[in-house]
Amino acid sequence: MNPTNSPWLHQLERTRPVDTLKDDIAVDIAIVGAGIAGVMTSYFILRDTKKQVLLIEGGRVAHGATGHNAGQIVSDFEREFYSLVEEYGLSLAADAENSVRGAWILLEQIFAEAKLSTPMSSFMGYNGFTHVDRIVDELKNNALRLEAGIQISPIYISDTAPGLDEIPKDYKNLYNLVPHADILSLLETHDVQYIAVISEKKGCVNSAMLVEEIVGYLLATYKDRFMLCEETHIHEVTLERDLALLKAKEHSVTADKVILCTNGFEKFSINNNAGADIDVKFHHMVRGKIGYMAGLLEELKHPPVALSFYDQTAEDVESVVDPYDQKPYIYMTRRPYELEKNEKHNLVCVGGPDVSLDDTGQYIKEAEYSKEAIAEIEGFLHKTYQNSPKGDIDFRFKWHGLMGYTPTSIRVVGEEPKNRVLMYNLGCNGVGILTSIYGGKRISEIVGGTKLAPSLFDPRAVYKGSKTLSRKKRIHRLVAQKL
Ligand SMILES: Cc1cc2nc3c(=O)[nH]c(=O)nc-3n(C[C@H](O)[C@H](O)[C@H](O)COP(=O)(O)OP(=O)(O)OC[C@H]3O[C@@H](n4cnc5c(N)ncnc54)[C@H](O)[C@@H]3O)c2cc1C
Repeated sequence: MNPTNSPWLHQLERTRPVDTLKDDIAVDIAIVGAGIAGVMTSYFILRDTKKQVLLIEGGRVAHGATGHNAGQIVSDFEREFYSLVEEYGLSLAADAENSVRGAWILLEQIFAEAKLSTPMSSFMGYNGFTHVDRIVDELKNNALRLEAGIQISPIYISDTAPGLDEIPKDYKNLYNLVPHADILSLLETHDVQYIAVISEKKGCVNSAMLVEEIVGYLLATYKDRFMLCEETHIHEVTLERDLALLKAKEHSVTADKVILCTNGFEKFSINNNAGADIDVKFHHMVRGKIGYMAGLLEELKHPPVALSFYDQTAEDVESVVDPYDQKPYIYMTRRPYELEKNEKHNLVCVGGPDVSLDDTGQYIKEAEYSKEAIAEIEGFLHKTYQNSPKGDIDFRFKWHGLMGYTPTSIRVVGEEPKNRVLMYNLGCNGVGILTSIYGGKRISEIVGGTKLAPSLFDPRAVYKGSKTLSRKKRIHRLVAQKL
């Protein structure tokens, strides 16, 4: 089977010819990377400013992480809220969470403005937990959210869960005790080790189809201000005081601003001729993880659902200094899926197994699928999903994608402090559909001249965070060596 057999790319119906960069060109704004981040950034800049935009993609639109994800719409971070509060303070952490939640509204606006027809569903989804001490972390998150005035998601705990008396009394109004059978029913599982659930708004979308449809809309709507070049890899970005020069194989682009929406810092160099060196180390600190996913077809008889399964103890989360090293959780979605025209099924997708890479440049799109990953996914379905087929599972789709992790596990959105000609909306970090959309809106506001309050998405915050993290990591190693 083709290792890049993603259900999202399978559904793309593309008639648009590929346009490459055929000449040297000068534009207001050059955006590199046409995944969801680059396309949403283009959308908001075109909608909210008068600037011209050139969107440049090394391969094809939406064929990066955007075409290889789980397509689960969720406003989560890959970090606990309390850890964001510890690092950045309550106010910045709360602003960040509210901003990403607000991206649901931005997405709905885009659907209405561009009259999109890509199927999207939203519903209540559930996160399941196996250990009471781990759910105490979630209660701690919710206590802080309440302090910041943020709406919280309900938490249900089985009334027979072991360790209930370990829950601090202060949290007693932050959860409800329910029969264990209700927990299992919400999670659609017969795996009795799951003893608690958080319910939150989630959704499903084929983000590749969404992005492809938006590109079509932008090309039709902004004929005189929007250009797209695919199969045009940028290998060098040179920054001057008030412009950038981007070099592709045969031609180059001059732009007032360049916005990197490249997921990680893949295969290109940056020279800053108008200030200090852009921190090469920082760029190398976007680390890669290959995420493995598989999908099977079911009869179209159950409603859409999005579930996550955290078989973790508090120790698994708290003992890890760097969120990048955390024990993975398993995520599952079920949604109606048209395999071929009018051939409707439910598609059940499962992801979670991953492999770390030293450098995002080591990722090979065509690499073989991992045997361990498929065994883990099959084992999970047998053990956990109540409607799982018995025996060997016939996976219709198996695919993998690259996740670029920033040092803080937070998307980087904003101007490079050493030269503001360069901007970023990047760092996939495992969960990135809504943050990419929020990032696109924030970038368009900066381009439009709005003075924004500091945010933990600022590149400056990531530079600072990466130093804190490496100091913490060194201390952690020293402690570990002494033990
Ligand atoms: C297995 C997996 C599961 C995931 N599940 C979810 C999920 O359920 N929910 C969720 O919210 N998020 C999920 N994510 C994360 C989400 O998919 C990403 O955060 C999001 O798609 C990132 O979009 P992007 O545009 O930043 O990156 P990408 O989609 O990777 O786009 C970057 C583009 O930049 C191009 N590019 C890079 N360098 C250059 C260059 N030098 N010149 C030209 N072009 C260049 C690449 O070709 C690529 O097309 C998942 C990711 C993976 C891998």
